[in-house]
Amino acid sequence: MVNISNYNDIKKSIPENVLLLAVSKTKPEDDIMGFYNIGQRDFGENHALEMASKFDHLPKDINWHFIGHLQTNKVKYIAPFVYMIHSVDSEKLLAEINKHAAKHSRTIKCLLQFKVAEEETKTGFTYDEIIQLFETKAFDQYPNISINGLMTVATNTDNEEQIDKEFGKVADLFSCIKERYNPKDFTEISMGMTDDYPIAIKNHSTIIRIGSAIFGERDYSQKG
Ligand SMILES: *Cc1c(COP(=O)(O)O)cnc(C)c1O
Repeated sequence: MVNISNYNDIKKSIPENVLLLAVSKTKPEDDIMGFYNIGQRDFGENHALEMASKFDHLPKDINWHFIGHLQTNKVKYIAPFVYMIHSVDSEKLLAEINKHAAKHSRTIKCLLQFKVAEEETKTGFTYDEIIQLFETKAFDQYPNISINGLMTVATNTDNEEQIDKEFGKVADLFSCIKERYNPKDFTEISMGMTDDYPIAIKNHSTIIRIGSAIFGERDYSQKG
């Protein structure tokens, strides 16, 4: 069930310059329209084909954000329309996004996923890998990509101190890159979900990705 009152409460509690990205993965188009009709335009998905199908059916002024691990062979499905890819986790993926963006004469906004969590399951670049990309001017090879900032998923834990430490590392890397390389349009830190967004905002997040608090719990049972 769509929870409009939670949505309004979260919007009211966050600074004006922080974007609430509504994470609609697994949720029906009617639920998305429930938020669209009260002014929400930014939605997040983590499966390419699901996102492409929702794009086809829903209003064209929605900004579609891709937030999950993206396989290179799926880039083609979202390249014509995706607004921002938060979860760039390899150079191979960067090259593929650039290739498809060029085909559609687009520049696609991307964030670099920084792996701060301890869990083995999380993907992303390490601190050193991200610095190395800037140091070697790797992005010059990808004229159809705009690197707009960093994204992270913190460790799934109740230990708020640990989450705070992880988000702090992202904020530190972000300011270090700004200071050393000052990349064009490097403005976004995508971090914070339903359970940890207040800690993320305290650490200078600019995009919080909120799913279950506003769409209700997800049911993965039919999808296996
Ligand atoms: C599912 C998901 C979210 C939203 O999670 P909630 O805890 O439901 O708010 C945010 N970010 C990513 C990368 C996700 O996969």
